[in-house]
Amino acid sequence: MKTDVILIGAGIMSATLGTLLKELAPEWEIAVFERLGQPADESSNEWNNAGTGHAALCELNYTVEKADGSIDIGKAIKINEQFQESLQFWSYLVQNKHIRNPKDFVMPIPHMSFVQGEENVAFLKKRFEQMVDNPLFKGMEFSDDPQQLKEWIPLMMEDRIVTEPIAATRIEAGTDVNFGALTRMLFEHLEHKHVNLYYKHHVEDMKRTSDNLWEVKVRNVATGEVQSHYAKFVFIGAGGGSLHLLQKSGIPEGRGIGGFPVSGLFMVCNNPDMIEQHHAKVYGKAKVGAPPMSVPHLDTRFIDGKKMLLFGPFAGFSPKFLKNGSLFDLITSVKPHNVLTMLAAGAKNMALTKYLIEQVMLSKEQRMEELREFIPHAKSEDWDVIIAGQRVQVIKDTEAGGKGTLQFGTEVVAAHDGSVAALLGASPGASTAVHVMLEVIEKCFPNEMKQWEAKIKEMIPSYGVSLMKNETLLREVQTLAAQTLGLKENMPLQIA
Ligand SMILES: Cc1cc2nc3c(=O)[nH]c(=O)nc-3n(C[C@H](O)[C@H](O)[C@H](O)COP(=O)(O)OP(=O)(O)OC[C@H]3O[C@@H](n4cnc5c(N)ncnc54)[C@H](O)[C@@H]3O)c2cc1C
Repeated sequence: MKTDVILIGAGIMSATLGTLLKELAPEWEIAVFERLGQPADESSNEWNNAGTGHAALCELNYTVEKADGSIDIGKAIKINEQFQESLQFWSYLVQNKHIRNPKDFVMPIPHMSFVQGEENVAFLKKRFEQMVDNPLFKGMEFSDDPQQLKEWIPLMMEDRIVTEPIAATRIEAGTDVNFGALTRMLFEHLEHKHVNLYYKHHVEDMKRTSDNLWEVKVRNVATGEVQSHYAKFVFIGAGGGSLHLLQKSGIPEGRGIGGFPVSGLFMVCNNPDMIEQHHAKVYGKAKVGAPPMSVPHLDTRFIDGKKMLLFGPFAGFSPKFLKNGSLFDLITSVKPHNVLTMLAAGAKNMALTKYLIEQVMLSKEQRMEELREFIPHAKSEDWDVIIAGQRVQVIKDTEAGGKGTLQFGTEVVAAHDGSVAALLGASPGASTAVHVMLEVIEKCFPNEMKQWEAKIKEMIPSYGVSLMKNETLLREVQTLAAQTLGLKENMPLQIA
């Protein structure tokens, strides 16, 4: 089979790229190959990720305290603006009836940060003061008054013996996103647009042909039959499976890159009274030495129209790159071109690896102790443990970090001729899928960009514009998202 575009993997990234491309070039033929039986069964599944619409409203690792004590909110601004692009694209899709019932995939929920101890309270206050006047974060509130906190987070304050300062910030404009439901809706839409979806089809290999196409070898998992498919452009959106496929493509841009797998666990509350008493996503501060993805949070979630309460994810170590992957994933990703990078990363990250292995070994009661920092009276019988998705962090040599530096972001690796691109990394992840897929389009279709720009701006009015610097547009896109998706706006903005 010959087609214009092949998307490997049926997660949120391929779903988003396929949907964008169908709007920009409706005549292009697209085929999708997914090894599992349906879309969104790996990281994008609602039970495998935390469903936070990452907009830096509560995640303390996006605002770093500098040596002089000031707070750098640059990363928070970037992530917030990227999430606004996702909201605009989803609004466009709902307005144009490409997807329906936004309540099935995005719900408003206050985002909060909660800290204990004098130093942490001082940090949170400084962070709040730095953010609250920024148009992107207007409406954020701060309180160190236990009485106020009782109103905001009654479940967390009940039976709490306050022996040291505590504080929280809260902003109404936060979201809980069911990325699994959204991914499934997008693939349903793509099916209507005559995209060929092949489930239970595992991509085994890919190589460049003499006539500048990509030959993609796909095994039908049900029959065992292997077929070759050809395309001008291939997107490797295989989540944890992307690194192996990037290596198989043989493009020089993929050399020297390695992956570090991080597993996850959630605790799910089974007590309806407790679920009812909490209404927020509450993030804490990572303990000294703990990596950012290891800070569990207490989240109200909306899954299948039901309100839920989850605590996690607890990070851990497993050599698998996918939840449904193989124990040999890590070892088979080590190649002659990345072995030194991987060894350097191994040496540098002994403490992290030890930490993650220790986390895997925690008993349920030890996990309950962490939960009790949030809910002091939490009882073990009210909580069940479930396994979350795998995250594969990128390892590469960087100027700033040297050989074998562990990256916590999301990275697009594209061939110089734009014929193939892969998405690696997992954070901020699904929330910024629209921004990241636009990056793929910019890198891989530079000749079409001029012709596509007007359509991109119609779908995502803030494309190429800083929303922080353009308050009028910020107001417009937030009002649109509020109306179309049923979300809460930030506090009304005072436009100078
Ligand atoms: C514990 C955890 C918590 C997270 N929390 C958040 C959060 O709160 N907010 C947020 O925005 N993001 C979060 N993320 C990140 C987010 O889930 C991911 O960034 C996002 O889902 C990745 O989407 P994807 O499409 O790249 O990958 P996936 O959803 O993993 O999809 C990849 C697909 O490719 C398929 N595949 C793999 N190999 C092959 C092959 N060889 N052939 C065919 N198909 C293949 C897989 O089966 C899978 O279906 C979290 C992730 C984890 C694990």
